[in-house]
Amino acid sequence: RAKRDGRGVFRFFEPALDAAARKRRQLELDLREAIQTGQFRLNFQPVFNLKENRIAGFEALLRWNHPTRGEVGPTEFIPVAEETGMIVAIGEWVMQEACRQAAAWPEDVRVAVNVSPLQFRNLRFKAVILQALAHSGLAPHRLEVEITETVFLDGEDHVLDLLHGLREIGVRVALDDFGTGYSSLSYLRSFPFDKIKIDRSFITGVATDDGAAAIVRAIVDLAGALHMETTAEGVEDGDQLALLRGQGCGNIQGYFFSRPVEGAGVAALLSTVFAQAA
Ligand code: C2E
Ligand code: MG
Ligand code: MG
Ligand code: MG
Repeated sequence: RAKRDGRGVFRFFEPALDAAARKRRQLELDLREAIQTGQFRLNFQPVFNLKENRIAGFEALLRWNHPTRGEVGPTEFIPVAEETGMIVAIGEWVMQEACRQAAAWPEDVRVAVNVSPLQFRNLRFKAVILQALAHSGLAPHRLEVEITETVFLDGEDHVLDLLHGLREIGVRVALDDFGTGYSSLSYLRSFPFDKIKIDRSFITGVATDDGAAAIVRAIVDLAGALHMETTAEGVEDGDQLALLRGQGCGNIQGYFFSRPVEGAGVAALLSTVFAQAA
């Protein structure tokens, strides 16, 4: 709420601020109910390995079917879940559900799970993963945890301890949205990530913009030198795919190959024969 009443302009904006605050409070209440009444589900987007010409795994993406609003996207509700701490409970559900579904897939197909910084630094995080693996029977190497560079804002030493803890269990670690935000190359030196996911913002221009193409090439080369895999995020057309293949990018993910699908759609994608390189 605007504090100064001396100027008309503040009064003018007051109702809008109230409306935003109310909407936000309602979203919080609705999220709480969503956890309790099971309104969440997972979609899965395939990650296609260009060298092996096969689906190497799926990324689990959280979906919320709101009782009155319909589908609410994660970019709207995840930040609220993070600010309120609810992401810890939601993330625990995601981890269990992703492992449960993936356990029914072929053994050479992995599942990737996004993990928020708050969830990552929660004291129970490692226990949550161990429990999800134990309950589902999923082999640890079939689980890939996706973190973003923002987790390092908590202090690098602590984060490295946590990452090595994951490595001890045998789960894989991917660095998501690479190249955005607070990226620092030193993170790549301090931990042997299994995979770097090149942010969609670079892929969008990869076939049309020399600068974007140069950055993608540099990331792919760097990853190769560090023995890390790469996945290009948000590949939307064949030109981008051709360029990425030429640059030696290992995996692609994006609408061009497939949109995220319901759990029931995973088997159909896996049974598709990719005779011709896409
Ligand atoms: P992300 O982890 O980078 O996931 C990729 C996002 O890009 C997904 O959006 C996916 O649907 C979208 N995408 C994939 N291919 C394309 C494409 O070709 N073009 C375009 N324009 N978009 C594409 P989504 O599902 O809306 O998720 C957004 C973000 O929300 C995710 O970004 C991730 O940061 C977060 N998120 C999603 N599920 C979870 C979750 O279970 N836990 C946490 N902590 N975060 C999640
Ligand atoms: Mg991700
Ligand atoms: Mg990403
Ligand atoms: Mg992204």
